[in-house]
Amino acid sequence: MKAEETHKAAHAMIGATVLRYMVAVWTVGLAFAATLVMSPLMQPGVSPLFLLAVMISAWRGGLGAGLLATVLSASASAFVLLPPAYSLRVDRNDLLQLVVFTFAAVVIGSLSATRKSAEEEREALLVREQAARKEAEQANAVKDEFIAAASHELRTPLTTIKALTRVLLRQQPSETERREYLEDIASECDRQIDLVHNLLDLSRIKAGGVTINSSRVDADEVLRACEKIERVEAEAHNHDLRVEVAHDLPLISADHSALRRAICTIIENAIKYTPDGGTITLRAQAHGEGVSIEVEDSGRGIRPEDLPHIFDKFYRGRAATDGNHTSSADEQEVPGIGLGLHLARALVEGMNGTIEVRSRTGQGSRFSVCLPVWEKEVNTNERDAASTPAHAFSQTGG
Ligand code: ADP
Repeated sequence: MKAEETHKAAHAMIGATVLRYMVAVWTVGLAFAATLVMSPLMQPGVSPLFLLAVMISAWRGGLGAGLLATVLSASASAFVLLPPAYSLRVDRNDLLQLVVFTFAAVVIGSLSATRKSAEEEREALLVREQAARKEAEQANAVKDEFIAAASHELRTPLTTIKALTRVLLRQQPSETERREYLEDIASECDRQIDLVHNLLDLSRIKAGGVTINSSRVDADEVLRACEKIERVEAEAHNHDLRVEVAHDLPLISADHSALRRAICTIIENAIKYTPDGGTITLRAQAHGEGVSIEVEDSGRGIRPEDLPHIFDKFYRGRAATDGNHTSSADEQEVPGIGLGLHLARALVEGMNGTIEVRSRTGQGSRFSVCLPVWEKEVNTNERDAASTPAHAFSQTGG
């Protein structure tokens, strides 16, 4: 495919070069014919029409074409137009004329070619400048959109925290209510911390490095930590959050914190994009050479046209618009800024893993994160100390 394209490009280049030189042949031919027709009216000597031919050739075809036109004009003048005809011999006067003509033609040709290339360069600069301006405008629009969305995302949990704190301060809630409010406050704080972490990761990815420290990790433990973090939110939406972990899973090579954050993001999406009362299943099982961690939901699913883009930065999918499902207006009510999956993929790929999704609109989605098995020999003691204890992860973004 590439060789064919190179071949085609080479052909096109040869064609353009031939065309440039053909311009010289054509214009000199025309000047020659016109000179012959007008010779009874013109003074003997080198025809000024040849200078015009040289100028046009250099303008259209560049310096090479201008020089060719000069050579052709001088030869045609010497061989046919200047006496003796059909001989390259010329007398001293005509020779002087020919030398002056050639000199003038070379100067005019060079000037025309230089002017032409300067004009082309200016046009190219203008095109580049316009493209750069358009890109900057687009980037600015994305930035504005992002700032608006991020501010909204940051404000929402804060508003809830403030309202609940006021309730706790002013009313005398029962012990159960107090506990419930505090749990809500804690989960809203988690959401906020998550967002701040995502924003930090985003700038780190841009600067060329989220630090990933892969070590031996127990996928079961990570999944249970995620379940603990997300359970409150899942229950608030009456989702049935299940965990299915295969026995004797091998340890994986991953960064505990990065993996937990990536999986939490996927679970949070499952919670968000599944209508209340849905089922969300977290699975961990051996898969080929590695371990696969899956998050499956019974939610609204992802439209086929959104599927190729959902890992793109700032991409937000839309809900399907058939009779039973939400419209794009509802989409606005689902909070988000289109960063979660982009960051999740960056984190997973930073751990040499892969992330993929299968989904059908109206039938739910299944995200699978595959990570390599920890290769080095580990003994039982090491395995027990494999990953950081779950209590270290009391926060989503921690
Ligand atoms: P956000 O949720 O902030 O929009 P994400 O990057 O996390 O951004 O997700 C990108 C898009 O992928 C979402 O806008 C949504 O359309 C789609 N999506 C992600 N997870 C799910 C899911 N479990 N079910 C349906 N759609 C999803």
